[in-house]
Amino acid sequence: MLVVGAGECGTRAALALREEGYAGPVTLVGGEPGTPYERPPLSKAVLSGAADLTPLCPAERLAEAGVTHLAGVAATALDVTAHTLALADGRVLGYDRLLLATGARARPLPGALVLRNHADAVALRERLVPGARVGVVGGGFIGLEVAATAAGLGCAVTVVEAAPRLMARAVPERLAARAAARHVEAGIDVRCGTAVARLEPGRIVLTDGRVVEVDVVVAGIGSAPETALAEAAGIAVGNGILVDGAMATSAPDVFAAGDCCSFPHPLYGDRRLRLESWRAAQEQGVHAARAMLGTPGPYAAVPWFWSDQHDLSLQVAGLSGAATEEVVRLRPDGAELWFGLDAGRLVAVAGIGAGTAVARDVRIGEMLIARRATPDPAALTDPAAALKPLLRAPSPVG
Ligand code: ADP
Repeated sequence: MLVVGAGECGTRAALALREEGYAGPVTLVGGEPGTPYERPPLSKAVLSGAADLTPLCPAERLAEAGVTHLAGVAATALDVTAHTLALADGRVLGYDRLLLATGARARPLPGALVLRNHADAVALRERLVPGARVGVVGGGFIGLEVAATAAGLGCAVTVVEAAPRLMARAVPERLAARAAARHVEAGIDVRCGTAVARLEPGRIVLTDGRVVEVDVVVAGIGSAPETALAEAAGIAVGNGILVDGAMATSAPDVFAAGDCCSFPHPLYGDRRLRLESWRAAQEQGVHAARAMLGTPGPYAAVPWFWSDQHDLSLQVAGLSGAATEEVVRLRPDGAELWFGLDAGRLVAVAGIGAGTAVARDVRIGEMLIARRATPDPAALTDPAAALKPLLRAPSPVG
């Protein structure tokens, strides 16, 4: 069993192969040096200097599980007929089953730093000195987490977002507005509806003609799936490596999972999704491991995302873009929940609040989405009505 990519997805998959009872050789190949680590803290505690890297598992766990981890070596070519993988150091490895967990790469903006891996975080951290003028291009999760961390370090931060509002891709407008107000309160200059015309040394020239003077520019303008290895091998690729519900690609014995893949989701009419989600990477890694061992089944977990910005935590379960109606619950503690429905069915839940304030309600919402529940909108809106009893209503899927 050969796993390409030692991030969240690949590492979980390698360990799961063993946990699922596979006794043969498992090799995990990763382009980055060192022990596999958690990426979410890179824009938060690692960037602020509050914490160092969090390993994905204790360093000895991979060895104990009998996983051969080849770190700091990229895979360069996959031959799906010969069942071989060539590595940058000249080695060629054979496989019975192979998993591509190659992730995604930041869309580059020439002249700007990006934040994707540990080396990026270290390079950026050095620039975030108190008083530094930081230009953040892109008001998605990465840009806003970097902006919040930089403001916390005493930098003077400007966020430039091309869309009319922040986080338009994944977060409902109301909740994004609440986050935007918090960024402004923290002293961040948030400019929506204007893109970068060009970067010049020490300044960002905007499409509206204005100029932002900066010491450093960071781009969080989205990512592209890492599909080069698959494409060169002749594997079908769209927006990501195309897989079926069991994470199988178009090539025999080759699977793909995590940020690099596009899969059909049964909860959303088998629409193809490519998720950039920490939890999906984990779950799909485990799911793919089971499929590689011969127990396939459709991957149907509810998409789930979170972002911490200042003292606020945002969580989204389901796909907010799939909603045609929305209702809001304003809780007395100041937290806010948003429910998205389509033809009466709950398809998304989002929440914003201090710390873990919304975690439990979003979790219940996620279970309702999985059950294809059709809750009474009045019960969703009323902050005095507990959400949990809604789970007891008969589920359309039993
Ligand atoms: P990420 O994972 O990098 O946060 P998202 O897709 O969630 O990716 O967010 C990227 C954001 O960057 C989007 O809101 C998008 O509108 C914005 N964006 C993309 N290109 C530009 C640009 N040239 N100037 C300003 N904003 C941009």
